[in-house]
Amino acid sequence: MMHEERNLLVVSGPSGIGKDTVVSYMIQNHPGIELAVSATTRPARDYEVDGVHYHFLSVPQFEQWVAEGKLVEYINYAGNYYGTPKCEVKKRIEKGIVCVLVIEVNGAANVKAMYPDCTTVFIIAPSMEEHERRLRSRATEDEAGMRERMRIAEGEMAMADTYDFQLVNDDPKACAERLFNIVESRRTAD
Ligand code: 5GP
Repeated sequence: MMHEERNLLVVSGPSGIGKDTVVSYMIQNHPGIELAVSATTRPARDYEVDGVHYHFLSVPQFEQWVAEGKLVEYINYAGNYYGTPKCEVKKRIEKGIVCVLVIEVNGAANVKAMYPDCTTVFIIAPSMEEHERRLRSRATEDEAGMRERMRIAEGEMAMADTYDFQLVNDDPKACAERLFNIVESRRTAD
């Protein structure tokens, strides 16, 4: 298929601004869109299920996947490895399913270099204060982890204008619809 790369949607945004919620609303409300499951060495949070939220791997297992060339890209973020398995992307875009990657900025730049026709979208919180408030209310990280994520977020914000589109997450449902419209209009363009 000629335009299969257009089925690939890459979403980034600082940790804790609700981009996962936005993406899940979009997936719930529109058929034919699926999330790629990344691999990580980060410990699972209480609600997370192996193979659903992430493939949770040990460091040696992750390094094995890298050595075997199983990943499109991978990075070290806040002390843990994260990477996108090739098969997660390929099996979807070939079938015309929209494949969504929710990944950080370096990974997104690597994916864009590899799949130039993919669509990249950066989601931001309405303000930096609101961003910190959302990150704190989630309370899945300790204070040091939170600070680290805010520090990374500031660097990430500087990358926002390298993305094809930027969206402000003022309201997750509305933001999800705007995200859907972006990917659909790219897919149906000549
Ligand atoms: P978290 O620990 O909050 O689940 O994720 C931390 C950061 O890693 C988030 O910005 C998330 O989007 C990013 N991330 C998750 N999976 C991947 C991946 O496969 N590759 C890259 N480059 N980043 C990822």
